[in-house]
Amino acid sequence: MLSTKNQLHSIDFRKVNWQDELKNNVTSIDELDAYIPLSDEDKETLHNIVKMHPMNIPRYYLSLLDPNNPDDPIRRLAIPSAEELVVAGSMGETTTDPYGDDKHNKGNGILHKYPYSALVVATEYCSMYCRHCFRKRMVGLPNNQTVENFQNAARYIAEHKEITNVIISGGDPFMLPTPVLKQMLDSLREIDHINYVRIGSRVPVVFPMRLFDDELLSYLKEFNREKALYVPTHFNHSREISPLARDGVLGLREAGITVNNQAVLLKGVNDNADDLAELMNGLVRIGVNPYYLYQCMPVSRVRHHFQVPLKEGVDIVSHAKSLLDGYAKRFKFIMGHDIGKIEICGRFGNKLILSQIHSRPEHPEESSRILVRELTENGGWLDDLPECDFAS
Ligand code: SF4
Repeated sequence: MLSTKNQLHSIDFRKVNWQDELKNNVTSIDELDAYIPLSDEDKETLHNIVKMHPMNIPRYYLSLLDPNNPDDPIRRLAIPSAEELVVAGSMGETTTDPYGDDKHNKGNGILHKYPYSALVVATEYCSMYCRHCFRKRMVGLPNNQTVENFQNAARYIAEHKEITNVIISGGDPFMLPTPVLKQMLDSLREIDHINYVRIGSRVPVVFPMRLFDDELLSYLKEFNREKALYVPTHFNHSREISPLARDGVLGLREAGITVNNQAVLLKGVNDNADDLAELMNGLVRIGVNPYYLYQCMPVSRVRHHFQVPLKEGVDIVSHAKSLLDGYAKRFKFIMGHDIGKIEICGRFGNKLILSQIHSRPEHPEESSRILVRELTENGGWLDDLPECDFAS
């Protein structure tokens, strides 16, 4: 039987063994019911959703949410909702692969989309299955994109001298046992043309106790002396910045690692200027750089209830920036589009001004171009907005 909320608060998560603690994750609706009161109707709906998109919530993350508030932002990120049954709705078309990952999959778990960056899918497992995840089609389900042999991935990278940086992603690479992660990183150490390595992880947010592993931290520190190591992480709300999360981040920073944050603008979570400003201020307070704020992608079973229309989003972001100092407002508001990354710069009347900051190799002329689109009421993605001239 799951602990009640009070019992959760009495657990000293700093002292738990992370691998043992993972076994206490809440993965069934019956377990969840012991923590959050659910009606029989809720339970039946949630059972159906969990069959499609598994649920996995660490007890630590559950301790952050308010079980009595159905609109709690932390709850929205972790607990399945009936809205996930909506494949497409008022927001328009959706896809399971908005970022074009599948097209750029080179086998061995490598996604090679831009010439200079290689992304290696190291595991499909995450300590939590976030309800807004854009890799929802992969996470938590067995899939053949998982790296079975990281050495083969490293060989591909060694043969492609244009690759200057590697992103180890997933799933969450910090879910791998430390010796496995060490082996993976070791195979990248010798490759001269790699300038730096990123480990994409939501562990600092949802499972910070993983970062109290001395063996892991001392290895990362050693690796970082040879190749610069970055951890892009993913805080979406200031309530996620708990004392435990702060200490997990501190461990990474003490190992010399730069921690950058890539949040997502999400309806019902952080879609107002005050919450966004509080998030960015909270990040700089713990030494995390606000790096990107992503527009929520048009992902099936995500877009309908999480995406904020661009017309609204651009105003929220510019209002939030007006409340922030220089370091806190360094983040770019970004669309991670299949054609490349696009910065959402701002609006001029009813026109949205965008700047493409990466392009596909076959379209170099598109890199660093300015785009102008007409804002519509519900348009949430580049493809939803009609093209227009800046002057018209
Ligand atoms: S940790 Fe990242 S990859 Fe895993 S479910 Fe959450 S958002 Fe998706």
